[in-house]
Amino acid sequence: MRGVTIVERFLKEGGSMFIVAINQEKCTGCDSCAEGCPAHILGFDGTHAYVSGDEAECLGCESCTSVCPSGAVTITEL
Ligand code: SF4
Ligand code: SF4
Repeated sequence: MRGVTIVERFLKEGGSMFIVAINQEKCTGCDSCAEGCPAHILGFDGTHAYVSGDEAECLGCESCTSVCPSGAVTITEL
């Protein structure tokens, strides 16, 4: 998805865009979200997950929110 502008994504996806955020205080460090992110925008530093890429490249697939045991991941639809 890299190289595709936010405007191009906005048009292609019918006006839906998603922003992902991780609450570091809630993250228990299981690494499940980063492992399964198809957009490869989540990282893991050995202790906590973090947004390692462009948060606006989130596909909104909800893989991360569904696997997170602590509710640390939030996806916001714009
Ligand atoms: S919703 Fe999907 S694409 Fe977006 S951060 Fe989570 S796993 Fe990655
Ligand atoms: S799935 Fe949740 S608890 Fe596990 S690393 Fe990701 S944010 Fe942290």
